Amino acid sequence: MTSHTPPAPFVRPPAFAAPGSPGAPRVLLLGAGELGKEVAIELQRLGVEVIAADRYAGAPAMQVAHDSRVVDMLDADALRTLLAEVAPDVVVPEIEAIATQVLAEVEAAGRVTVIPTARATALTMDREGIRRLAAETLALPTSPYRFVDTLADLRAATAAVGLPCVVKPVMSSSGKGQSVIRTADDVDAAWDYAQTGGRVVSTGPDAPGVRVIVEGFVDFDYELTLLTVRHAGGTTFLDPIGHTQVDGDYRESWQGQHVPDVVLQRAQEMAAAVTGDLGGYGVFGVELFVVGEDVLFSEVSPRPHDTGLVTLVSQDLSEFALHARAILGLPAGDVTRIGGPGQQAAASCAVLAEGDGVPVVTGVEQALSVPTAQVRIFGKPSVSGRRRVAVALARGADVDEARARARAAAAALRIELV
Ligand code: AMP
Repeated sequence: MTSHTPPAPFVRPPAFAAPGSPGAPRVLLLGAGELGKEVAIELQRLGVEVIAADRYAGAPAMQVAHDSRVVDMLDADALRTLLAEVAPDVVVPEIEAIATQVLAEVEAAGRVTVIPTARATALTMDREGIRRLAAETLALPTSPYRFVDTLADLRAATAAVGLPCVVKPVMSSSGKGQSVIRTADDVDAAWDYAQTGGRVVSTGPDAPGVRVIVEGFVDFDYELTLLTVRHAGGTTFLDPIGHTQVDGDYRESWQGQHVPDVVLQRAQEMAAAVTGDLGGYGVFGVELFVVGEDVLFSEVSPRPHDTGLVTLVSQDLSEFALHARAILGLPAGDVTRIGGPGQQAAASCAVLAEGDGVPVVTGVEQALSVPTAQVRIFGKPSVSGRRRVAVALARGADVDEARARARAAAAALRIELV
């Protein structure tokens, strides 16, 4: 963990009082998933009023918020109405699929602090915005890339970028619509999947194509998330998080991996550059690929990151606690790794449900009998398709032991869809 110079001051000095009373800060979470739930809990611990919004009722963060709203946050008018009704001091986006122009409006009107900034939410909801900022404006090293809007251009782009390459809709996350092109025969399928799998869906063969990014496939040695906290006391880098992804979606993450100093220094410089440009306060998940001593920027979330769930057991202040502090304009640089002798590493393992129905989790007692194990059960009211419903967490003497324990705890959990 290292700290740097402070960013610009918070627009509203924090004062604390009973939630709902004059002077008490009111926070609106846009997106009420499992990461938002942990942020809501940390805000509650500071006595802050929390209102959680999402597309469906009973979302995880709604279960621990003072109040909740069901709203389509991509609907600009609905979002304007929500903001007018709730009148929050701080808006905390937890997802990317938001009508971000509305955030820019309320920020410009000076009524609300948008976390980290309205511009950051707009740039990062679109892979093109953040890629061009990182690679073209900030000159950070990335994989080679092209943006294309048609199948014909995709063919040309694969030739320019080289095979294998990765295709992703610019409006997508968690591997949705993402695939790897290994041979020219894969191009059509990659295009079709990108047209239907992302946040924006093409309506047919004659409709305008959904824009995609084509990236050179990076045969990385490992990938890292560098959680970077911009807060009133400066910028703090947390210990790097290693992780594995399947189909572009996080499965396991860990802290305690040895990362050479030169790699860490490059990673921190890149994280400082990109988060410094995005500005504002809060946690950022800076995603990087490491090849030897080279570090490539991949993308950044201007909010706590799913791979950062491991910080629930690795640090005295998790990424969620740090986000809560930072967004309120409080210093958040005093982080201590936890874990005594034999517990220097920590790991998380996602627990997924696949199918349709209400997830029912059993086997918790077996999971918790794994040494050091903890679980978080998100309480999702239903599942349709593949969704994360819980996470298992553990510590160990080294990364291998922590991962084995987290995996064992996750395997002990049984998910039934009823
Ligand atoms: P993203 O949604 O862009 O973070 O991608 C999700 C995951 O897919 C990453 O964490 C990587 O494991 C993998 N991935 C994405 N882009 C590339 C790439 N250009 N080369 C190799 N793997 C990639």
